[in-house]
Amino acid sequence: MWLISQHYLTVQLRKVKGHSNDKANDQADALAKRGRYSLDPIIINHKFFHRSSLALFNYNHINVIDRNLRKWSNIPIQSRIFNMAMNNSSLSPINYQITYGDIDWVYTKQWINFNPFDMPTSSKLSSIQSNKLKKSTFTYPTGNILKRNYPNLYPLGRINCTECSIDEDTNAHIGLCPSHHQSITSLLTKFKKKLINLLRKERTSNISFDIESRINNSNMFKVFPDVLDAARLPDSPDQIRIPREQPWILLLHHLIPRDLAVFFDNYFSNAVERSRFLIQYVTDFISELTTITWSSRSRSFKKWEKSLDITLKKKKHYRKHTITASGQASSSAATLPSTVAHKRRSQYTRYYHNKVLPYFKQKVNFDVFACIRWMTCNFLHSGSW
Ligand SMILES: [Zn+2]
Repeated sequence: MWLISQHYLTVQLRKVKGHSNDKANDQADALAKRGRYSLDPIIINHKFFHRSSLALFNYNHINVIDRNLRKWSNIPIQSRIFNMAMNNSSLSPINYQITYGDIDWVYTKQWINFNPFDMPTSSKLSSIQSNKLKKSTFTYPTGNILKRNYPNLYPLGRINCTECSIDEDTNAHIGLCPSHHQSITSLLTKFKKKLINLLRKERTSNISFDIESRINNSNMFKVFPDVLDAARLPDSPDQIRIPREQPWILLLHHLIPRDLAVFFDNYFSNAVERSRFLIQYVTDFISELTTITWSSRSRSFKKWEKSLDITLKKKKHYRKHTITASGQASSSAATLPSTVAHKRRSQYTRYYHNKVLPYFKQKVNFDVFACIRWMTCNFLHSGSW
């Protein structure tokens, strides 16, 4: 549309029936089929698109694919956003899950937008949603992030998990922490039974696969004992990737795993009912999961902070006096750590405002095959959705 208006083109639209021996349509068809086997990603230059097309939910400049692939691809800028999500260092723990499509973005969007209250807006709702977004973008203020934001307030060195003290206290550690595993295991068993009962009682589709054995076999409800070690990259053990075989961890980050969504897709024929049951089920599941993980972590972390006399008041004071509005550290506190933090921030800002396409930017991960799957138009001929 932008090209048409910029170049004053006269365009006539005519609908052509598929596979009706229309020459140009058959050519387009053949090209799409051929493209399916091509290994070259199609690069779309986002600069050709008007800024107004950038209307997506984001937090901290991090965006996600929030609809099904066909709708997603209606906006060509999405591939750039997907690329940014894939190469974003804060999302690196779920890089495999993003790349291999383990997250159901349609349900995730519904869950993040879900309002449990009667009123359309409220401060309580904003705080719930901000909490969900921070956790889903791995920017919830855990030790590593607090250390970055308040370098002079916390002790030197990395802040370890105050519950297990094995690894650094990060967003990704919450589902991997061994101190939660026992309670998580019994909670997963409880919600496994709950799902079996729900599907048996309420299912509306004709599919008659054995509900119980499918759910019992699903990784959705299993905790592997070596999950913490499985999350370390063999060549750099400090880098954490949440194992794909443990999809329940995604729920801790308010992301809806495909392994869970598939049961609702299979056993409910009506889309509205399907979402209603899923949201209901997920509400209870996430709330109980949060109590035994995030809340337990919070209690123990606050205790640790208290022992070092790090209070909310001190943090407020720090924000007010140490970093000024322009992001410059004030002269009284211009010591080394805050300069480093500021440097990191300006690097990030530079990246975000970079006018050049970031497709080949050497960041965390660049999976060419993932780009092919997500960015070419070939999916028109590659599967059912
Ligand atoms: Zn831990």
